Amino acid sequence: MTESAVIKLKKGRDRTVRFHHPWIFSGAIASIEGKTQAGDIVRVVDSNGDFVGQGYYNPLSQIAVRLLEFDETAKIDAAWWDARIAESISRRRNIISPKTDSCRLIFGESDFLPGLVVDLYCSFLIVQFVTAGTERFKKEIVDSLTARLKVEGVFERADIPARKKEGLPQQSQLLFGKSPPSRMIIRENGLSYEVDLIGGQKTGWYFDQRDNRLAVADLAADSRVLDCFSYTGGFSITALSHGAVHSTLVESSGSFLDQAHCNLRLNHLPESSAELINADAFNYLRKLRDENRLFDLVILDPPKFAPSKSNLEKAINGYKDINLLGLKLVNPGGYLATFSCSGAVDWRLFRTAVGWAAADSNRKVQIIKQMHQAPDHPVLFSFPQSEYLKGFLCRVE
Ligand code: SAH
Repeated sequence: MTESAVIKLKKGRDRTVRFHHPWIFSGAIASIEGKTQAGDIVRVVDSNGDFVGQGYYNPLSQIAVRLLEFDETAKIDAAWWDARIAESISRRRNIISPKTDSCRLIFGESDFLPGLVVDLYCSFLIVQFVTAGTERFKKEIVDSLTARLKVEGVFERADIPARKKEGLPQQSQLLFGKSPPSRMIIRENGLSYEVDLIGGQKTGWYFDQRDNRLAVADLAADSRVLDCFSYTGGFSITALSHGAVHSTLVESSGSFLDQAHCNLRLNHLPESSAELINADAFNYLRKLRDENRLFDLVILDPPKFAPSKSNLEKAINGYKDINLLGLKLVNPGGYLATFSCSGAVDWRLFRTAVGWAAADSNRKVQIIKQMHQAPDHPVLFSFPQSEYLKGFLCRVE
């Protein structure tokens, strides 16, 4: 067994990792002692040579090291991965129930497993090895998952941009058992949804909105809903099942709307309870405004407007515009549920953008609830980057 290479940090660059932030950027590295390649385990020391942590290295990535361990004596081997994976699974004990059979099982850094994302879809796992380090331990990881969970198959989704930055291929593949059917049915909050694990967005379903779908649906009795950026209808179907009388779904992808249509049927909701609009939400909301249409509950769950800090200004304007359009369509006494999933837009900025929209709308807008990502997407104090989903539930007069 060869000794791990030692990465020495520049003076003062150990500050965040001392608080257990798991990332070391390439610019923080003073020197590398010993031979190391992408995915290798390395030891990291501060400028005095004192131990900081152990992690894996990738010279191609700006995030040169992701720390796995702050204990000098730990050995990062199959048993190590297995123990961390077991802990992560056991944290989801209270999420899986007869009403909910699917969730995110491992949320990377936030589950102390940097670069690894695992979603459970009923009896199948979808795994993302985001980094060269997790790619290196693929076998150990899959062995642990299949030993601990009785699953029919484990499928890797490799078509994620982050892998390109790590110098990794994009081919998705079956790693264990059989491939998930292209259309399968999961249960969430007692409702059924058809998901496309291979072609769908993210790994097929937005688990992070599970609790928010319920929070929003709590206000939906007797209401007419406008569900913008609906994807396959998670918010609408929850709202309709909680007494909403009608929902208008707006989504730019026709195939997601086809799935939304299936999801209505799956949950025994009449066809007449929903209108499926294949359109750009910005344009369609303007059209609704021009027609003086009003809704009791407007939901805005757009895709990430700010993929990074460099797009921040454009993103803030995007949030302001869509929220202004949305607010104008709320019946007096109704509600707006508005979200941002841009990690780069923090709470204060998102609140400012919605606040500008509220001011321009000439409506009285009260925040009655703040919403965030569901508990299978935990946020680490030491890793603020793990917090990305923010939402406000607003009452509008
Ligand atoms: N609310 C959904 C998730 C929304 S994800 C849920 O609860 O599951 C964002 C969705 O917005 C994606 O399905 C994407 O196809 C769609 N989208 C992206 N840009 C859009 C646009 N300009 N107009 C309408 N839909 C858009």
